Amino acid sequence: MRTEPLFFEPVFKERIWGGTELTSFGYDIPSDKTGECWAFAAHSNGQSIVKNGELKGLALGELWESHRSLFGNVEGDRFPLLTKILDANQDLSVQVHPNDEYAYLHENKELGKTECWYVIDCKESAEIIYGHNAKTKEELAEMIEQDKWDELLQRIKVKPGDFFFVPSGTIHAIGAGVTILETQQNSDTTYRVYDYNRKDADGKLRELHLEKSIEVTKVPSVHATTNTQHWKVDDLKVARFIECHYFTVEKWDINGTARLKQEKPFILVSVIKGNGKLIHEGNSYCFKKGDHFLLPADFGEYDVVGDAEMIAASL
Ligand code: ZN
Repeated sequence: MRTEPLFFEPVFKERIWGGTELTSFGYDIPSDKTGECWAFAAHSNGQSIVKNGELKGLALGELWESHRSLFGNVEGDRFPLLTKILDANQDLSVQVHPNDEYAYLHENKELGKTECWYVIDCKESAEIIYGHNAKTKEELAEMIEQDKWDELLQRIKVKPGDFFFVPSGTIHAIGAGVTILETQQNSDTTYRVYDYNRKDADGKLRELHLEKSIEVTKVPSVHATTNTQHWKVDDLKVARFIECHYFTVEKWDINGTARLKQEKPFILVSVIKGNGKLIHEGNSYCFKKGDHFLLPADFGEYDVVGDAEMIAASL
């Protein structure tokens, strides 16, 4: 079988806070409340599908089961990562995720969730919620009970190009007017802390999970600062934002040509700006903003040519 990049067809999710911003990636979105593009997803709630080559039509989860060598024979009962692009037309609910140990014990052997965000675009003075001001668990519980949200929640202004590492146990929310690319553990264990008392289309409030939220939230709050490393390979600028137990996330900025070598079990690449092509073993593969491709384990050496920005995630 020929070794080639695998381009994936994303899955789109409508959300009460969604909008139409995802059309700017060239996507045909299902409605004007489209909140999420699941770019690399192997989850029971959504699977991205290979759209080129001999493996065309296979879901990422099926590939993981039947072609593990593409992923460097990494062990695990599920594909470890989930990549999404989110369009927050309105504020997302405030939430917190458990760690692996807690999720295993309390959520039927599920995984916890550590995630990270790259801000692709945002409105001026857009904000996120990251962390809280409670000094003790008692104070956290008290402030939640008394609806002291303004006092409790820490807000941070964001701009395009910002990166945030959001370990499990961090209270967080994406604010209105922010488009982000999110790399996360492949898990859905989310505890909703606060939803602005919003009602859904049926006039119902969405469920909150206060007890569990208080249990898993780290107190006092820690801002997980990261140290971005920069280097250059030919005409490719690399910024490595994070390298942690769960994932490594880099930004690749190509302006010209670069010769690269794939040395990871696999790499997930999302094109967020511009276009270009990969040249590999005499074959050429064009890519453009909105494309998502996986470079398999034995991909070897290749050239990247073009004028584009990409987010590349690996283990
Ligand atoms: Zn989250």
